[in-house]
Amino acid sequence: MNYKKIKMKARKNIALIAHDNKKQDLLEWVKYNKDSLREHNLYATGTTGLLIQRETGLDVIRFKSGPLGGDQQVGAKIADGEIDFLIFLWDPMEPLPHDVDVKALLRLSVVYNIPVACNRATADFLISSPLMKTEYERLLVDYELHRMETMSERLKD
Ligand code: PGA
Repeated sequence: MNYKKIKMKARKNIALIAHDNKKQDLLEWVKYNKDSLREHNLYATGTTGLLIQRETGLDVIRFKSGPLGGDQQVGAKIADGEIDFLIFLWDPMEPLPHDVDVKALLRLSVVYNIPVACNRATADFLISSPLMKTEYERLLVDYELHRMETMSERLKD
């Protein structure tokens, strides 16, 4: 496998998403970590972002609401290298109309090897990591090269 290295700056581009039953949880977490989060660029899906802005005064770049395509917008930004960190408090107890988008977003987070927290404890560990304050080189499997090599092999047959 070939790898590429992607440099994450000390100032991270963090996306925040919470399903409705988890919004209170996320708001409490954001309030508690407000000073640390101020050091980064914050993005969020529509309603989550609105609540964070209203309750904490933090600047947040907002996408569409999750069920209206917001999760997919976050996924596209991850693929473009513009979001490098995800806090995603999804609801494990309720099926949602955009479950497929949730799965797609989690998959892309793995493909692009970005740190992801799906619950508060993980979010606590991530935010208190010394790596939050430094540059970091993320390793990325070079899937494009891998796919090209596989296709060339297949076309030879
Ligand atoms: P919301 O979307 O922030 O607009 O509520 C979150 C989601 O359901 O993915």
